[in-house]
Amino acid sequence: MSLSFDPNTVTIPKGHHIGGQYVDLPGEEIIVLRPSDLQQIGTLTDGGDAAVQRAVDAAKVALKESRWGKIVPRERAAILNRFASLIEQNATYLGQLEALGSSRLVSGTITGDAVRTAGVVRFYAEYCDKIEGIVTATQEDTLSILKHEPYGIVGAIVPWNFPMITAAWKFAPALAAGNAIVMKTSELTPHSLLAMAELAAQAGVPKGLFNVVNGYGHTTGAAIVRHPDIMMISFTGSTQTGAAIMSLAAQSGIKPVTLELGGKSPQLVLADAGDLDMVATRVAAAFMANAGQVCTAGSRLIVEDKIAGALVEKLIERTKAIKAGPTWDETTTYAPIISRKQLDRIDGMVRQTISEGGSVVTGGGVLESRNEGCFFAPTILENVSDDNIGFKDEFFGPVLTVRTFSDLQEGLQLAAHPVYGLAASIHTSDMKKALKAADGIEAGMVWVNQHGRGPEFTYQAGGYKGSGFGKDMGRAGIEAYLRQKAIWVNYA
Ligand code: NAD
Repeated sequence: MSLSFDPNTVTIPKGHHIGGQYVDLPGEEIIVLRPSDLQQIGTLTDGGDAAVQRAVDAAKVALKESRWGKIVPRERAAILNRFASLIEQNATYLGQLEALGSSRLVSGTITGDAVRTAGVVRFYAEYCDKIEGIVTATQEDTLSILKHEPYGIVGAIVPWNFPMITAAWKFAPALAAGNAIVMKTSELTPHSLLAMAELAAQAGVPKGLFNVVNGYGHTTGAAIVRHPDIMMISFTGSTQTGAAIMSLAAQSGIKPVTLELGGKSPQLVLADAGDLDMVATRVAAAFMANAGQVCTAGSRLIVEDKIAGALVEKLIERTKAIKAGPTWDETTTYAPIISRKQLDRIDGMVRQTISEGGSVVTGGGVLESRNEGCFFAPTILENVSDDNIGFKDEFFGPVLTVRTFSDLQEGLQLAAHPVYGLAASIHTSDMKKALKAADGIEAGMVWVNQHGRGPEFTYQAGGYKGSGFGKDMGRAGIEAYLRQKAIWVNYA
């Protein structure tokens, strides 16, 4: 069965989703375009403080009436499992919505993103009755109990690059832990998260526990972060916005934040990495998938000099083998950039990299063959030194810089980055070298002989340094939405 679809036949959600229903509220109109050809697919309004207040009010009523964090945990699990089933049943619609409004290709959104989103909800549903406290060692006639409790209302803000799945990494554990949530996704890609909130309500998640407000970051996003009744903030986005979130959160008192931020992740390839075709396919996918709009994109190739020339030749071949096209055509293999603004930003940054001494091996500009949309050619750059913007900043596009080394120590030095520490990969057949390199790299995620996480939900995501703190997924992913209470009993 073909996955391709007619982009004009997909129903587009409208409004905010608050209190279990779509709600229209006044606000500045935001026009939503599809990146493949910049045609309008919908409009929404910037909700600002009023929408966030309405969502908080709905969340308070829902928490009080449903006693969500206090009911038998298995009942929460049953409702969340129903929600996961509804996501699976609606995977085609959700996948089409995701492909239509974002850079994600329909070849992956239905069978990948939508199905995985359901999997994330199921994974955390299973945690509901496995949240365990401890009884700690004490003197006689006393009892010291450490237990976990939900925060109450939590806030979450996510970016545009994997709108549905990144959101699920937050709403699923937050709800499983017994919280209500007020969420915002990017103003560029609002629709799949709205549909998700609608399905949650249909599944029986008490109305008002899962609220989605639309709008810009500096207005609606900031209103979530600053709201005094939102007790914790989980954010995914750029490092620059992450810093702003910390400062905004401090304006409404003290509340914890978790930050999943940008990256500049190295792919360290040793001469003994194995079959060069296989390595080239891996390295190419790591910087070209979703046109490089992946927080963990392997944007810096650091390759042992003995194989550098041959590997780069094979990478060039792979950059020529792409098929750029509409996201709703299943034969498309190369994604658009999310917006014209982002396309211009990548282009400008490549120009600046060149003006600061970098040189183009292949690509280097907008993909002329598809000038009706936002496509940037897969680009490989050399001679990008540590003081060049191309080394310092995140392109968040399909751009790979190449450096060479002659011994592992030098390779590790080149792999280090002064700001970012999100992820890194090491490609070698020598496990001793792989583990030494893994120890030597400052990053929250390190992969050996692959670049990118596997399908396991137990694997946690999160960075070091300027790439943030706090984790999504795995056990840490639900612990983020729980606070600990230490109870002491004297029964002498
Ligand atoms: P962004 O930081 O511009 O925006 C992210 C979200 O924050 C959006 O919803 C935006 O509206 C909101 N926002 C912006 N300013 C805000 C403010 N002042 N207050 C509150 N909210 C605000 O990022 P983006 O361009 O949407 O996404 C790309 C970035 O996200 C890249 O840097 C990428 O590396 C990062 N990212 C990180 C991860 C991760 O897991 N570490 C995953 C995906 C993307």
